[in-house]
Amino acid sequence: MAKKIQITVAKSAGFCPGVKNAIDKVLELAKHSNKAIYTLGPLIHNKQVIETLKEKNIRSVGSVKEIKDKDAILVIRAHGIPPEEEARIRSLHADVVDATCPLVKHVQENIRTYAKKGYATIIVGDKDHAEVLGLMGYTEGRGYVVSGPEEVKALPRLEKANIVAQTTQEGDVFLAAAGEARRIAGELAVSNTICNPTRMRQKETMEFSKGADLVIVVGGKNSANTARLFQICQPLARRAVHIEREDELKKELFQGASKIFITAGASTPTWMIEKVLEKARELAEHKENPLLENLVFAWKLVVTGSLYTATAAVALTYVCMKLEGVPVSKKLLLMAGLFAFSLHMANRAAEKGAAAPDKARALLFVKYRVASRFTALLCGAAAIFLSAALGWQVFLATAFFWFAGMLYPFKLPLGLERFGNFPASKDIVTALGWAFMCAYAPGLWHEGGMSSATQLAVVFAFLLVFTRSVLFGVSHAHGDLIVGKENFYKAAGQRFTYLTLFAIFIVLAGILITLKGAGWQPELAAALLTGLFYYLGIMLFFYFGKPPEHILAETLIDTQFIILALLAYAV
Ligand code: SF4
Repeated sequence: MAKKIQITVAKSAGFCPGVKNAIDKVLELAKHSNKAIYTLGPLIHNKQVIETLKEKNIRSVGSVKEIKDKDAILVIRAHGIPPEEEARIRSLHADVVDATCPLVKHVQENIRTYAKKGYATIIVGDKDHAEVLGLMGYTEGRGYVVSGPEEVKALPRLEKANIVAQTTQEGDVFLAAAGEARRIAGELAVSNTICNPTRMRQKETMEFSKGADLVIVVGGKNSANTARLFQICQPLARRAVHIEREDELKKELFQGASKIFITAGASTPTWMIEKVLEKARELAEHKENPLLENLVFAWKLVVTGSLYTATAAVALTYVCMKLEGVPVSKKLLLMAGLFAFSLHMANRAAEKGAAAPDKARALLFVKYRVASRFTALLCGAAAIFLSAALGWQVFLATAFFWFAGMLYPFKLPLGLERFGNFPASKDIVTALGWAFMCAYAPGLWHEGGMSSATQLAVVFAFLLVFTRSVLFGVSHAHGDLIVGKENFYKAAGQRFTYLTLFAIFIVLAGILITLKGAGWQPELAAALLTGLFYYLGIMLFFYFGKPPEHILAETLIDTQFIILALLAYAV
């Protein structure tokens, strides 16, 4: 009987907080400024992300001399730089943005404090690593870099010394070096400055590598922390590989491997880890149920092709028609589906995503985008055409909202800010578009304006779709996709986001309880109130667990509309 294959992905895998913070900073700069943006050295050690940033005109330079444009914005990356270097570039450039990780700053401060008291500094790290070069600048000329205990032995006798670690150093190496330092220093301060995200990552890698048949370490070949993870797992696992991309995995690696563990460096995005997982499943023939896997694949096509989103829009339109008490119009339902499909397809095509690894795939990607845009335009034209049959008011409003939605991802002419530059703009624009199509259009068609029932349905649809969009933003951010403050979650932070979502749940529930109490469609109000608990369930699931990858997230979130429509239909 074939052995059961078990593939585990490290919980700690994905961008570390320092990398996330640095990327968020440059994205915000790129959005709000027309100036050229340069980072001093690559922002992170990951080629694919660097390529994506280049597409947004964020480039890296080896030194300030390479920048001819005096107006350019200069970004100090998460590793930090020496203080004299910082003072020098600030004197040359007016716009310097510091994206040094706060945990690196903490090490800089530690070194500075001890150096001022006359301590020499021993840094356990890689001599040429940018973070270490930066730290050396705080030692007041009394700094030594060692790679481990052996090199400590070669140091001169020191009266007073402070031993620190590069933030991504291996714990055992640091402790061994500190032990050796006690022999050569009269007085020794031991500052274990390995950052917490690194400790967690290394601890998990150690635990899961023991007894693993294969460990796959994902991350840049020039990333020091990824290289360390690889060193940690090599002696513990039967086989270990360090890869940058999923296509480096070969079938032979998986022969006889039943226990597989995937881990990744601090600058590896979650979406890359998901690709590696998918490829590993394929090569390890991790097919517990081929029928189920084929169904999952088909479902992925439905979701990524925006078909499920279109179905959700049809479902919400049905719910709104019932709420408004207007007859259910098949034309309007179809129009809502086409409208949502068109805008979501167009927006997906406008997202640049990760850079293609080779020319063939880049060409394929371009063809896919052209085809998606063409389909989006066709469906949008069909929605507007249908709207003409529902009266001139519906026609004009549909055309207006459709054009506004199509323009959203692009820069506006005449130097106007693009919609996407406002915090939470993506969620607000999406909610407005859906509220129009699903709630306002039926009222406009039947009543010729905004009756109180239509107003109620518009508020209901807007709040539900706003929540939907915010939860998508949460899922994207956890997948380390390059997203900015156009997402409410990025602009408001985790705590405020979930407080807002909970407040929306209370408002929606309050509206439905009031309607029921007032005897206004009480059965429908009770049914929708029951459906709202599904929404509460997703919110709690996202908050207390790790938000799922985007296909599952999208399925779970959009299913709320189908549930509401089924409940409304049953009344
Ligand atoms: S590895 Fe640690 S110190 Fe370095 S950027 Fe990430 S969180 Fe900051």
